[in-house]
Amino acid sequence: MSTEKIGWIGLGNMGIPMVKNLLKANYEVTVFNRTKEKEQELINLGAKSGANPQELIQNCDVVFTMLTNDDAVKEVFLSETGLLSKPETGKLIINMSTISPETSKFLAEISNKHQIEFLDAPVSGSVKPAQDGALIILVGGSTKNYERARPLLDILGKLSLLLGEIGVGSSAKLAINYFLALNIQGLAETVLFAEKNGVSRENMLTIVNEGACGNGITNIKTPSLLSNQYPAAFPLKLLHKDLNLAKEEGLNTPLFHPLFESFKQAKDNGLGEEDVMAIIKSL
Ligand code: NAP
Repeated sequence: MSTEKIGWIGLGNMGIPMVKNLLKANYEVTVFNRTKEKEQELINLGAKSGANPQELIQNCDVVFTMLTNDDAVKEVFLSETGLLSKPETGKLIINMSTISPETSKFLAEISNKHQIEFLDAPVSGSVKPAQDGALIILVGGSTKNYERARPLLDILGKLSLLLGEIGVGSSAKLAINYFLALNIQGLAETVLFAEKNGVSRENMLTIVNEGACGNGITNIKTPSLLSNQYPAAFPLKLLHKDLNLAKEEGLNTPLFHPLFESFKQAKDNGLGEEDVMAIIKSL
């Protein structure tokens, strides 16, 4: 354990369980969330509350951001009481939100102008791995900052990989979420095709999961497919956001375009707040 004081901004589906793990490991954690009520559960567990991002970085050594998208992260960094509103020599910001590699590079550059260090560290894995401290953390940045962050990353994840410069972590995240979307779409299409030809959903999922095509995703999504209920673990609108970022990064493969349109249509049809597996409802 290091003695660094931790700040955490963004208490959504992912942020809350991740902070719980830092508290369990006896770190001093100060949280900030735009909707203040969401802080209460963590305050009850021993977290402190900060008035704004500026106060957090003044009082903490390392500040994590786990926010919806590029715009949210930029707002938290750049607003009047944002993380970069004053120079804070020697502090480290670790962004774990999924954002574009360009935004990661931009944030690193302006952080450094404020004498603040920056790591690009998005995560692979959803709410359950976040609860279990079993995320895979995809890091871009300097070896020095990575080594400083390691004791904390080791609590949040089962594996962290330093992949290259700032932005490379975000690129890896967009690539793995493309593969996730292919899996989700493929599973939904397979189940529907089988059902149409007289194979029950339950039997088809057994065939998938017991064979070489079964994987973590097919297993995790099986209960929701059987109950036809899709409470959000990873909301469909966030996967659509990530496919959009991948498109902006130049992903232009034969399967990408229909896949992107499928998730766009599902989101436009009002399925954005449901889990990614709800794609089956729009097929
Ligand atoms: P979420 O539940 O929607 O939470 C988003 C957080 O961002 C909330 O704390 C929200 O504050 C805050 N926020 C949004 N806009 C803001 C703004 N303009 N200013 C300040 N705060 C703002 O999202 P999540 O599921 O935790 O995901 C967080 C990030 O991790 C996303 O980039 C997502 O793509 C990525 N991710 C998610 C999963 C997953 O399974 N959910 C897995 C891997 C990666 P309020 O509470 O005030 O709305």
